[in-house]
Amino acid sequence: MSEKNQEIKEEIRKRRTFAIISHPDAGKTTLTEKFLLYGGAINQAGSVKGKATARHAVSDWMEIEKERGISVTSSVLQFEYGGFCINILDTPGHQDFSEDTYRTLMAADSAVMVIDASKGVEAQTRKLFKVCTMRHIPIFTFINKMDREAMDTFELLDDIEQELGIATCPVNWPIGSGKEFKGVYDRQKNQVELFSDTQKGTRQGSVRILDRKDLEKEEWISGEQKDRLFEELELQDGAGAVFDQELVEKGKLSPVFFGSALTNFGVETFLKYFLEMTTSPLPRRSDQGEIDPMEEEAFSAFVFKIQANMNKAHRDRIAFMRICSGRFEAGMDVWHIQGNKKVRLSQPQQMMASERKMVEKAYGGDIIGVFDPGIFSIGDTLTTAREQFVYEGIPTFAPEHFARVRQVDTMKRKQFLKGVNQIAQEGAIQIFQEYHTGMEEIIVGVVGILQFDVLKYRLEKEYNVEIRMDSLPYEYIRWIRHCPVDLDKLSGTSDMKKVKDLRGRPLLLFVNSWSIRMTLERNEGLELTEFG
Ligand code: GDP
Repeated sequence: MSEKNQEIKEEIRKRRTFAIISHPDAGKTTLTEKFLLYGGAINQAGSVKGKATARHAVSDWMEIEKERGISVTSSVLQFEYGGFCINILDTPGHQDFSEDTYRTLMAADSAVMVIDASKGVEAQTRKLFKVCTMRHIPIFTFINKMDREAMDTFELLDDIEQELGIATCPVNWPIGSGKEFKGVYDRQKNQVELFSDTQKGTRQGSVRILDRKDLEKEEWISGEQKDRLFEELELQDGAGAVFDQELVEKGKLSPVFFGSALTNFGVETFLKYFLEMTTSPLPRRSDQGEIDPMEEEAFSAFVFKIQANMNKAHRDRIAFMRICSGRFEAGMDVWHIQGNKKVRLSQPQQMMASERKMVEKAYGGDIIGVFDPGIFSIGDTLTTAREQFVYEGIPTFAPEHFARVRQVDTMKRKQFLKGVNQIAQEGAIQIFQEYHTGMEEIIVGVVGILQFDVLKYRLEKEYNVEIRMDSLPYEYIRWIRHCPVDLDKLSGTSDMKKVKDLRGRPLLLFVNSWSIRMTLERNEGLELTEFG
């Protein structure tokens, strides 16, 4: 193997690319901050920007857009720790932008799920988890806020298993919670890490570790707590799943950790275990079979996110791509498969904790943002491989809200269509047309209702087009995988609507799940899917 290829493999092996998922307020931002603190990417926790982005209502979003660039902090955070090169894919916290989160999860090799110890699994956790399981990536659980009153440990584990359908394996076990929180017991090392509030978590704390013998003597932990701990451990040892790396890699077993991100307790332990247990960049499916970064030497990447208008004057965009194999070098020429054209990747950028910087080199596992003159779409493949391949696309997630949209001033039809199409190409909305009449009527579908406001705002500000939106009663959309009869003859319910997407694929819109069931019953052999 050449020296260059050796270097590429070494670099890729070091990489850990993951996303953190949680229900809002569980502590994702706080945990990310603490990770960065250990990585030395920031000196003091609390200085991560982009909190506003995580919380955005549409007004915040506009502010962000005005300031140009702040929102890029919610793209990827890269830092080094313990010989690893870590890429945290940040995701918008607001559930109305969860479509963006879904797509970002397509670029991750594993996920960290943060759960509030007093609440257990919440609605948004459930949704995001479902997307992760589609890809069978390893999922790690961090049960946060142990410094507050928590649910019973067994109950928490049970909740995860029942609600999410994944087996759990606690790597450590909490001793008390809230005011009585004394630390965690490491089940692998058989030692206790004593809880300490490290200056409210602003510094990397030194923790006191006790082995089991010392624990017997330790007075800070009451006899009652010790008895309870040993009892619980015994119960868990007897009934719980044993750690199995292979099952973790398949996403069937989630290693569970307890801690408190705010006080910075248990975070470094979690990080260390996680980095060892999780995977380096995974092979990815293409039309030519799996492309393994450890075998494919050529550069390859796919676009998973497009961010518009970083510079309003030029209406340019940044395409974020996940590198899957090989090495990226600034200014390199690559083949854009979907465009069937050679393109130069100019102005490559990497997002650091608090700033953007230009990158000269990047490797499989990394994320880069490149200038996009409007040629890329979500899911596109880029590569320098001589034998070309196309990465499996990113699924279209089912919108949950629909509206008929048209321009107020009929003279502005052309701008309107251009704007709507471009915004759809970026993945900020999905557009559909009437099945027969085509472009005359445009139906917009969104996953989160705020996306409508974003559409309206952007059409006005960027394309100078005022629009009217009439909301439609549909809540369910289904792509047709197989239709036994000519689509015109399909007998659905009276409130069902036939539309087609940008690629001309037929779809059905339904008002309720009852209509879906009825339609399926009436048409034997009809197959519908939730993802496009
Ligand atoms: P996100 O919405 O998931 O990003 O959650 P944040 O990280 O913003 O945290 C939500 C709130 O919970 C904030 O007020 C945090 O200070 C607080 N918080 C986060 N982690 C902990 C923790 O371990 N203990 C306690 N008591 N509060 C926490």
